[in-house]
Amino acid sequence: MDANEFRKLGHELIDWVADYRERIDDYPVMSQVQPGEVAEKLPAEPPLHGGGLGDIVDDLDRIVMPGITHWNHPGFLHYFPSNSDLSSVLADLVSAGLGVQGMSWQTSPAATEVEDVVMEWLRDMVGLPDAFTGVIEDTASTSTFTALLCARERTSGFSQNRGGLQAEDAPLVVYASDQAHSSIPKAALLAGFGAEHLRLIGTDDEHALRLDLLERAVDDDLAAGRRPCAVVAGVGTTATTALDPVAGIADLCERRDIWLHVDAALAGTAMICPEYRWMWDGVDRADSVVFNPHKWMGTGFDLSAYYVRDPEHLVRVMSTDPSYLRTAQDGQVRNLRDWGIPLGRRFRALKLWFLLRAEGVEGLQARIRRDVGNASWLAEQVVEAPDWGLMAPAPLQTVSLRHVPPAMAGDEEALAAHNAAVVARVTAGGKYYFGTSLLKGRLIIRVSVGAQPTEREHVAGAWAALREAATAV
Ligand SMILES: *Cc1c(COP(=O)(O)O)cnc(C)c1O
Repeated sequence: MDANEFRKLGHELIDWVADYRERIDDYPVMSQVQPGEVAEKLPAEPPLHGGGLGDIVDDLDRIVMPGITHWNHPGFLHYFPSNSDLSSVLADLVSAGLGVQGMSWQTSPAATEVEDVVMEWLRDMVGLPDAFTGVIEDTASTSTFTALLCARERTSGFSQNRGGLQAEDAPLVVYASDQAHSSIPKAALLAGFGAEHLRLIGTDDEHALRLDLLERAVDDDLAAGRRPCAVVAGVGTTATTALDPVAGIADLCERRDIWLHVDAALAGTAMICPEYRWMWDGVDRADSVVFNPHKWMGTGFDLSAYYVRDPEHLVRVMSTDPSYLRTAQDGQVRNLRDWGIPLGRRFRALKLWFLLRAEGVEGLQARIRRDVGNASWLAEQVVEAPDWGLMAPAPLQTVSLRHVPPAMAGDEEALAAHNAAVVARVTAGGKYYFGTSLLKGRLIIRVSVGAQPTEREHVAGAWAALREAATAV
């Protein structure tokens, strides 16, 4: 494609994205297509001749749009938000337009130095001490995997330079709560700890990790000759945004020389508001912390912020330093290829820079407070409504609830079927989209507030739709 054609089609597509965002609530929030329906509309063979982008807008509308679930829709109340502020959309366009591969400082100094600065801004914004240094990863899954690799290498005294975990004489053990995100067991397995050395510790009535059980598990492992290696503390777990006791876990980790990784994938964004920072009290003593600006904050997927207290250790675990990658500036600059798993890196920092300039810290704070306020309002409605129950505290933006008709009280199977039917009925209506989750054997409805355009009226509308469905099914 030449620059002229790009200019013409590019303007058209910017208008198309802007129109889409302005009219997003005309769409049913969840895609209604059946499996195979999108693929069927595409030709079986790739185009032999070029020049076929002229009708691309029609094809996007006809083929792609029916297969889109609208994450930036005001009725999107499922999972956790994946806000993509339009400022970050423009930044992604610039990043792709520059086509930079920022693996080393020299391969585009601005890609590294903008990242250096915006990651310091972000660290200060969420109140992390300046002992932490940040790097952008693609996802929290990668950040947590990286953390467990670093923990493994610290506890084992760099076993990777010898026989690896396979040659260790005592197994290394990882701990997290039974509410930990699936990315944590996945990281532990991929990092070679083995399922037998992953302990998912029981949680209390508020679904937070029980420190007494963690301490007992660590003691038992030590007594049996195993080596406690890492604890992953969850701040804002995925099912219910439970808050593990980070300060108490940090005490234990310091006492036993265990790596502490804090997974605040969603909740980290809330820490832009000082009044929520009690929720991760003790985080300053973590070895590593991850949170995802690509969730609630609005940088657009993908941008995960990974902070470490000992960057030299990270670089020692991650760097390979073959001669063909060395550059003259290596002693004076960060080469971000040595700060994570991939060699090549996109210029993601632009998304954060654009977003922060567009919204400002105060703009972000106002949006976070709006969402927490709307979720608290919903939690109050649930507590006051007869036959509805709040299933977990709602400190942030996710409300866990269910309908309990008196005839079904105590019958978990009937309650699960009933609440699943309520959710299916509301979702089929197309205006709201949320999901269910299994919380210790009980099916809950999870209403996760925080899409950028979601206002109180949408949360109130979803609540009304839930009550209507509960009587109709
Ligand atoms: C979303 C989430 C993750 C995984 O995030 P990705 O960036 O998609 O890998 C991890 N932990 C928690 C608590 C999450 O909510």
